[in-house]
Amino acid sequence: MNVNKEWITKVIEDIGEFGKTDKGITRLAYSDADVQASDYIINIMKELGMNIRRDEMGNIFGRLEGTDKDAKIVGTGSHLDTVPQGGKYDGVVGVVGSLAAIANLQQKGPLKHPLEMIIFMAEESSRFGFATMGSKAIAGKANLQAWAKAKDQTGLDFPTVLSSHGYDYTNIPKVARTEDEFKAFVEMHIEQGRVLEEDNLTIGVVEAIAAPTRLKVQVKGFADHSGATPMHQRKDALTSAAELILAIEDIAIQHSDEGTVGTVGLLKVEPGAMNVVPGLVTMWVDIRGVDYESISDTLAEFKDEVARIADERDILIVVDVLSSDRPVTLDDHVVDVVEHACRTAGVNYRRMNSGAGHDAMNMAAIAPTGMIFIPCKQGISHNPEESATVDDIYAGIQVLTETLYNLAK
Ligand SMILES: [Zn+2]
Repeated sequence: MNVNKEWITKVIEDIGEFGKTDKGITRLAYSDADVQASDYIINIMKELGMNIRRDEMGNIFGRLEGTDKDAKIVGTGSHLDTVPQGGKYDGVVGVVGSLAAIANLQQKGPLKHPLEMIIFMAEESSRFGFATMGSKAIAGKANLQAWAKAKDQTGLDFPTVLSSHGYDYTNIPKVARTEDEFKAFVEMHIEQGRVLEEDNLTIGVVEAIAAPTRLKVQVKGFADHSGATPMHQRKDALTSAAELILAIEDIAIQHSDEGTVGTVGLLKVEPGAMNVVPGLVTMWVDIRGVDYESISDTLAEFKDEVARIADERDILIVVDVLSSDRPVTLDDHVVDVVEHACRTAGVNYRRMNSGAGHDAMNMAAIAPTGMIFIPCKQGISHNPEESATVDDIYAGIQVLTETLYNLAK
């Protein structure tokens, strides 16, 4: 197999046909389009001589033996599912990159370590409300109780969908792999941000993956007639919420050197009428970063502001922490190997963090893990406009090939 730019373009275009609509690509996890895309890739994996295995989540493993039977696995891979009306490159670039890198390595002759290409199921949360389900199961982090109740838009629950593909939900714990199996795991992915494009760089060497802390904040004021209630008698929940939103922006700006960001992306105003002073506002806050201490500080300072605003406005504000995931620091050695590969391949690069979550963050729990980012146009992702150049994908494949070679030789 000749991995040139024409081949890369053809495979990406071919996969883009599965789930194609007039508004982008809708290839939800376990859908017919997802199965077709998987079958298409499995065929190429077989052509490359890989041994194919699927686990009870449907995760796909393609294995090439090394010369040392006892050597640990060097893994690479990504996902094929998309969000509704998604693009051609999210996940796909890492799958095609893995295929291409393994094809390149075969021409170098057998390596000491076995290579394993992994296609993770259900990376996107779009179908069942949970992200990176396949890699969570591999890392032994499956949330069986919550997943049992997870339903898609059509009301089908996750265990039923799994069984329609011939997998048994109760076997998910058996999907877990162990630390002693892997020497390393490397995922190539589009950046989904604008950092590389702005700096005119080809490769991002990822050092850490951000994780979110999510809050539900309820601001309890009092709903009054908007005409009959003088300003000094009001307990306006929305003007209080406005102060909170500006506070989180201000606090996050103060912590931006540490890579922390804060967002209020969703607000519910009740009763929600033009002629009623808002009585109740529920707002959802997303604080993210790669430094858990900085996230904790941001949260603590936000709570101080909550107390101050509640006191000043004589209003009740309730903060619920819905989730607080720990950011993932990638493996120093693997990160160094990726950086070295960039220099060998002669591409310009920078070290950076990932703001978005990836399967790699779960793999990091059981394998020394690295990530390779390539730029995507204007940082647009989860959108039909998502775009990456074949030159950048090709460069990413050179870096991935060299990285896997150094880890597996
Ligand atoms: Zn992705």
